[in-house]
Amino acid sequence: MSAQLDWHQRSNQLSIEGRAYIDGAYVDAIDSETFACINPATGKALARIASCKDADVDRAVASCRGAFERGDWSRMPPLERKRILLQFSALLLAHREELALLESLNVGKPITNAFNGDIVSAATTIQWYAEAIDKVYGEVAPSGHAMTTLVIREALGVVAAVVPWNYPLSMACWKLGPALASGNSVVLKPAEQSPLTAIRIAQLAADAGIPKGVLNVVPGFGETAGRALGMHMDVDAIGFTGSTEVGKLFMQYSGLSNIKRIGLELGGKSPHIVLADCSDLDAAAQSVAAGIFANAGQVCNAGSRLIVDRAIKDVFLGKVAEHAARLRPGDPLDPDTRLGAIVSEKQLDRIMSYVESGTRQGASLIAGGRRAREESGGFFMEPTVFADVSPDMRIAQEEIFGPVLSAITVSGADEAIAVANASQYGLAAGIWTDNVKTAMNASRMLRAGVVWVNCFDRGSMSAPFGGFKQSGFGRDKSLHAFDKYTDWKSIWLAH
Ligand code: NAP
Ligand code: MG
Repeated sequence: MSAQLDWHQRSNQLSIEGRAYIDGAYVDAIDSETFACINPATGKALARIASCKDADVDRAVASCRGAFERGDWSRMPPLERKRILLQFSALLLAHREELALLESLNVGKPITNAFNGDIVSAATTIQWYAEAIDKVYGEVAPSGHAMTTLVIREALGVVAAVVPWNYPLSMACWKLGPALASGNSVVLKPAEQSPLTAIRIAQLAADAGIPKGVLNVVPGFGETAGRALGMHMDVDAIGFTGSTEVGKLFMQYSGLSNIKRIGLELGGKSPHIVLADCSDLDAAAQSVAAGIFANAGQVCNAGSRLIVDRAIKDVFLGKVAEHAARLRPGDPLDPDTRLGAIVSEKQLDRIMSYVESGTRQGASLIAGGRRAREESGGFFMEPTVFADVSPDMRIAQEEIFGPVLSAITVSGADEAIAVANASQYGLAAGIWTDNVKTAMNASRMLRAGVVWVNCFDRGSMSAPFGGFKQSGFGRDKSLHAFDKYTDWKSIWLAH
């Protein structure tokens, strides 16, 4: 990032598109309704956004279906789709400043994180699937001599991607990458809080050469645009990231409509275990703090439950509390800020209600716990740590989705694993130990889709990501993500 760049100044020159993108053009909602898009760092409106409803979703789905049947994308040779998607990825990077600024203004995340993290991750995702798609082979089944049986992957058709507000662009690209690369058409519905980058990239996709109708973007509310997609008779699959509560609704929509396939990346309450034999408590404490305070705790795999051995509890909690005290919320457009805003006033109120619940149920607040930067008009909060949490408290069981760490004390690895698994969720888990046997045993025993040993929140496009239990099913990232957007067809040739 150029050190000289003044992001405030740059934001004054920004023009923000708030319309839907349907069938190759930016359009208002059919009923012309709009809603306000709020900057959570100031509480002020940034733009008016088209509020799409059933009729708009019908148009978008029809546009997707038309493109899919026309075949100019779905039947394009993979090598060609690859070329166009690589161009799309390059355009995301070419517009990195603008997209980072839109993302930071829209959801209050530090500009440095948006610029170095979110936008690069989005572009990398599209690039990865572009590069993969001409290397995915089918099979020849061993069906007998007078027969050749081909087993090939086929795109499903119209995919709806319904995504959350915490990493708006990179979550969208986790769906767009494999869905588009495999030849589907996609309707993207961003969260009501975070529509700006989704709307912007529709034009970049078109500029890259993605044909009309292959990508439509319908901003709007979950109860209207989201539900219309879930219930639509001509949507073949849903790629969803969001809360467990809404994930359950999508399963119902599917059963009530056309049995569309559903991939669900849902919530979590991920345990971060630190055992007494961990020799590098400084590294572990830094990891625990980063695991819950990154993105202000608005992370599906946030390590929101610290499970720490009694023998090291006091020393360790002291170190974590120090990290919390050092991390001050700041202006997201200041390149030095590491902790930004909470996405909305409603979300901040929700987090604060959990702080009250923790205190009421008898946990000890050892860091933070208050709103911050109220003079900004925005929604900020101090990094917060609760000690003396018992596993049945609400702050130990429910997803808070904010910078609040709940520390539970245990004795030994077995109790740590039992407490870790006593959750409705199973997205991710971390464990710090010097003993390789303990590490391997715990990795197998922890019921989670991702386990980190002596690290936390590591990832790359090469490894799948997703949950067990009520954290959902299906995997984003890696070649396994193609399973959500394609299906197998057997072709029998008698000879
Ligand atoms: P959310 O409320 O479940 O919303 C997710 C998406 O679903 C949004 O686009 C939302 O639209 C839509 N939606 C809401 N109500 C709906 C309904 N009745 N019918 C159809 N669609 C509906 O989740 P969020 O608050 O945006 O994000 C936070 C949640 O996402 C957390 O639980 C977090 O753990 C989870 N998450 C999971 C992962 C993962 O990979 N596992 C990653 C990131 C986040 P509106 O916003 O317009 O209501
Ligand atoms: Mg919502």
